[in-house]
Amino acid sequence: ALRDRPATEQGPGRTADGHPVTLLLNIGSARDLRPGTAEGVGLFRTEFLFLDRRDAPTYEEQVAAYTAVLQALPGRRVVIRTLDAGSDKPLPFLRLPGESNPALGVRGLRTSRIHPEVLDTQLDAIAEAARASAAETWVMAPMVSTADEAAGFARRARERGLRHVGVMIEVPAAALHARRLLAEVDFLSVGTNDLGQYAFAADRQHGELADLLDPWQPGLLRLIAMCGEAGREAGKPVGVCGEAAADPLLATVLVGLGIGSLSMAAPSVPAVREALGRHSLDECEAGARRALEAENPAEARAAISGRR
Ligand code: PEP
Ligand code: MG
Repeated sequence: ALRDRPATEQGPGRTADGHPVTLLLNIGSARDLRPGTAEGVGLFRTEFLFLDRRDAPTYEEQVAAYTAVLQALPGRRVVIRTLDAGSDKPLPFLRLPGESNPALGVRGLRTSRIHPEVLDTQLDAIAEAARASAAETWVMAPMVSTADEAAGFARRARERGLRHVGVMIEVPAAALHARRLLAEVDFLSVGTNDLGQYAFAADRQHGELADLLDPWQPGLLRLIAMCGEAGREAGKPVGVCGEAAADPLLATVLVGLGIGSLSMAAPSVPAVREALGRHSLDECEAGARRALEAENPAEARAAISGRR
């Protein structure tokens, strides 16, 4: 049924009854932008600037890289994620201590405990690029576990004049306390790749454990639901930027769980837009309830695909 309409259909994301769902792009640099495909950028991974280098990129280099993206999208939302180093993204210049368990170690926002100057310079550069562009600049931190961490990040970002400050939900404890985190920041973005990894204690790169990392796992959906509920209560945006957002059927479930924006690689956008346009918000919510009740991913999928 998804093939009845042309896959190139443009325009903002909406359910069949007109409930808006913001569709955004995941990018690694300005080269990944596809203007017209989506409504903005939901995840700008800034690691590319830092990888394969002996020294940190300069303030000027960073301003130029962020400006290249922001200036391409006047009036649009661009969510810049601060450096997500460590674990599967080691950075030589950070000279982090060797760790036997890097996925549970000093990664993401935690690197700023050891090297606060790296985050400070990055936030300075983002603020400078934001001032010079007409984009709506949002900034968020990866690998946040507690409301205290969220508050510390928000303070540092707001001190620099950044006005849309959020955190990623990638750690189960953060999802469980989504409400408390939202008291500190303006928005949440659920990173389902890492949230699945940490919720199921299964290395995201481990092929043998793919069944545990399935984004249809009802346990993962339950954590996402807690974030969606917290967002509705607080009246603050909660999005998903992990791979789950790129699965058209699962996208309808996420919307039913209270998710207001979906961010994905450009090629996935048309099919997600189409799937949303086929279902009313009520249907999405009914589907979300069935998926949460399912015993396993296969049952959750079947409960949704069988409804049409
Ligand atoms: C995620 O973890 O879902 C995410 C979007 O971040 P990354 O894939 O860059 O770790
Ligand atoms: Mg992640």
